[in-house]
Amino acid sequence: MIGGVCINTGTIPSKTLREAVLYLTGLTQRDMYGQSYRLKEDITVTDLTVRTRHVVGREVDVIRNQLARNRVTVLTGSGHFVDPHTVAVVDERGNEMKVTADKIIVATGTRPARPASVQFDDQTIIDSDGILQMDRVPDSMVVVGAGVIGIEYASMFAALGTKVTVVERRERMLDFCDLEVVEALKYHLRDLAVTFRFGETVAAVEKHPRGALTILESGKKIPASTVMYSAGRQGMTENLVLSAAGLAADDRGRITVDEFYRTSVPHIYAVGDVIGFPSLAATSMEQGRLAAYHACDEPVSGMNQLQPIGIYTIPEISFIGKTEDELTDSLIPFEVGVSRYRELARGQIIGDTYGMLKLLVSPEDRSLLGVHVFGTGATELIHIGQAVMGCGGTIDYLVDAVFNYPTLAESYKVAALDAVNKLRRVARITD
Ligand SMILES: Cc1cc2nc3c(=O)[nH]c(=O)nc-3n(C[C@H](O)[C@H](O)[C@H](O)COP(=O)(O)OP(=O)(O)OC[C@H]3O[C@@H](n4cnc5c(N)ncnc54)[C@H](O)[C@@H]3O)c2cc1C
Repeated sequence: MIGGVCINTGTIPSKTLREAVLYLTGLTQRDMYGQSYRLKEDITVTDLTVRTRHVVGREVDVIRNQLARNRVTVLTGSGHFVDPHTVAVVDERGNEMKVTADKIIVATGTRPARPASVQFDDQTIIDSDGILQMDRVPDSMVVVGAGVIGIEYASMFAALGTKVTVVERRERMLDFCDLEVVEALKYHLRDLAVTFRFGETVAAVEKHPRGALTILESGKKIPASTVMYSAGRQGMTENLVLSAAGLAADDRGRITVDEFYRTSVPHIYAVGDVIGFPSLAATSMEQGRLAAYHACDEPVSGMNQLQPIGIYTIPEISFIGKTEDELTDSLIPFEVGVSRYRELARGQIIGDTYGMLKLLVSPEDRSLLGVHVFGTGATELIHIGQAVMGCGGTIDYLVDAVFNYPTLAESYKVAALDAVNKLRRVARITD
């Protein structure tokens, strides 16, 4: 599986599916053309997967080409340790080949966790890998787990018209994000007929001839044509024979590493999802680069601590730096500057009236402590904030900067002006 979960079953297929959903449903155009606007009336799975297959195929080809250009030999098969310097690769026919190396990097990723209480059949009761194999768009769906993957798929199916119920054990979802942004997302998803069951634990998921029944510990029974179980992932280490290399994984299959991504056996590195949080393609790629540099004795600085988070829900969310809750808990004072898309000409042009950008600003040195974006282009826009924060910029830079007009990027200037005005109000009272 060249490209791993990222290209084949996770990031790329899900983001392509989202793009197809937005295009075919016409959802983002409805503020302009009315709530009945659709590009296609009956959207089939084929409509969605045509685009996904095309993109995945192209991406695999790009990676194959890059590996070849960089003289990387690919051995196809399942690898396991024989000793700390030897990996045996067993191919599909059972042929074994041994390779030795001075340095080894483990990047085996994760697979969806499958608890015994859930009767997975890969048709009616599926995990996130099963989404791509579905034979029809379900009329109803239960999503177990309101983590990033669960809530991204919940919003895609809700946009397609599926009646979605999200069951989550905790009282909140996406609790690492800005509270106001998550509230806005919940409002939008409820508007798309999503039902949330927070603080509820799934006792069992049963398959029946006419669909699936999700049984909650509280006694509730939720019928649906499909259940997507998305409650955690397991590190792919069970077949690696880690003990032969003097290594071990934790109960979730994860390997522990130091700041240079070295395991407890210093010439063996581990990167990506197999080492746990944040388990993103973006960070996994960078971890791989840093580990390879270190392994080859190239000068290397540690991972940049300023990492953006992108959540491709509908609407999308992105942020960098601290949240209001984190700053408050750490007793760090901050001021908030907000810009709403509906006040921007570009927001009106594209028909996004709900989007917003929020800057969290230090009243002491006017630096940015956090940037939170909700709405169209959030995952792209965040990088302006990342660049300003990374270079130690202040809101004064954003106030003075000239942005293309009409753009959503202009929201940085508007939010910075808002923050400056609020800081000025405080100064007027105290000066
Ligand atoms: C539905 C979904 C959506 C996601 N969306 C995003 C997103 O929008 N943005 C983002 O940044 N991240 C996203 N992610 C996370 C992202 O896909 C992962 O962080 C990334 O793929 C991790 O890369 P990796 O190289 O560590 O592991 P993987 O991509 O899991 O690759 C590991 C590879 O190793 C292979 N392998 C495992 N064991 C062996 C063995 N013993 N021998 C040989 N090969 C083996 C596997 O088959 C696989 O090909 C998403 C994930 C999912 C599931």
